[in-house]
Amino acid sequence: MNFDILVIGSGVVGSALAIKVSKLGYKVAIVDSKESPPNSYRHLSINQRSKSFLNEIGIWKDIKDSAFPYGRIKVWDQEGTGFIDFNAEEAQLANLGYIIREGEIQKNLIQKFKENKVENFWGETVKQINFSTNKIFCETDKKVLTAKLIVGSDGMNSKIRELSKISYRSWSYNQTAVVANFKTSINESCIKQTFTSIGPLALLPINDHESTMIWSIDDDVSYKFLAMSDAEFTNEVIKKFGEQIGKLAMTSKRQHFPLHHLSAKTFAKKGVFLVGDSAHHIHPLAGLGLNSGIGDAACLSELIESNGLENLEEIISAYNRKRIPINLGLAASMEAFKRGFGQKNIWMKLFRNTAFNIANKISPLKKKFMELATEL
Ligand SMILES: Cc1cc2nc3c(=O)[nH]c(=O)nc-3n(C[C@H](O)[C@H](O)[C@H](O)COP(=O)(O)OP(=O)(O)OC[C@H]3O[C@@H](n4cnc5c(N)ncnc54)[C@H](O)[C@@H]3O)c2cc1C
Repeated sequence: MNFDILVIGSGVVGSALAIKVSKLGYKVAIVDSKESPPNSYRHLSINQRSKSFLNEIGIWKDIKDSAFPYGRIKVWDQEGTGFIDFNAEEAQLANLGYIIREGEIQKNLIQKFKENKVENFWGETVKQINFSTNKIFCETDKKVLTAKLIVGSDGMNSKIRELSKISYRSWSYNQTAVVANFKTSINESCIKQTFTSIGPLALLPINDHESTMIWSIDDDVSYKFLAMSDAEFTNEVIKKFGEQIGKLAMTSKRQHFPLHHLSAKTFAKKGVFLVGDSAHHIHPLAGLGLNSGIGDAACLSELIESNGLENLEEIISAYNRKRIPINLGLAASMEAFKRGFGQKNIWMKLFRNTAFNIANKISPLKKKFMELATEL
């Protein structure tokens, strides 16, 4: 079967890109190894730029009622006096972004495949890729598909990255993210994040009476927190937030995810493009991973629109030029934030508190960080 563009992986990033390039008039197929459409229960924060892209492809109107807007982010640490506060007013925006269930975005994207003429193949795993002069042959466990351009949106353990021999750097953050939802008594449109001695703990509002929690806990103690009863775990969260939080009651099961960093050394070569987690994976402490993946999809589709598929070399070099530095910058900022607040040495702590408090007062510095977070 012949296509112009083949997208491997139907997470939010691959699905959104498939719809966008199909709207440009290309013959597009999307392949996923899952037997049925994914429906993740995790809630994610999406920024204004991601919202615009979802709006452009006709999805935002269907998901906007389940997206909860937030106007403020407060970050502080448990021991020192480090404090940073970002708010929409300062940035002259109506809000900073939205919290939404990942499965809600996925469901609505997948429902739009048919009307946008995106052909989809569930339950097919890519096994091999072969290159000829102007065609790429993609062999799944069921058939052979050909295309001029292949997109690897197949997540952190990308097979497309491996088959295209794109090397990468990866390391463990030595932390496990524990995720759960809570009924809350204090309801503000504010993300609250505190850096505890065992890792960053965040509460993100998902509606008027509930928040989702992400606690990235050091691996040497995470097993203790996973073994606790719901009531014991809830008490630990309340203790860390203190009066910032009021009453909490857990309303979901706890899920957990090991945390790793990954950056591919190149994001595109020989007609193969990596987008989203297959190209880069960062710590979830600033909630930017998916946003940066949607940024990849927006950038790649713009390059395809302006160059056409005949000019692949230009698309490859422009995509690498535009997306690699942004994602490296983001990974470095996350590392600085994590190390800054997680620093145990007393002198570093003193420096850190001073630096973060100055950063909180100096608008240009904060503005730069906010730009990075909203313009990915
Ligand atoms: C705890 C936690 C909280 C987070 N919070 C946020 C947040 O608030 N905001 C934010 O922006 N980001 C957040 N992130 C990051 C975000 O979840 C990811 O960056 C994003 O989901 C990646 O999407 P993707 O489409 O690139 O990949 P995925 O969602 O991983 O999709 C990959 C798809 O490829 C398919 N696939 C895999 N291998 C094959 C194969 N060989 N053949 C065919 N198909 C294949 C899979 O079945 C899957 O459907 C968070 C991450 C974690 C761990």
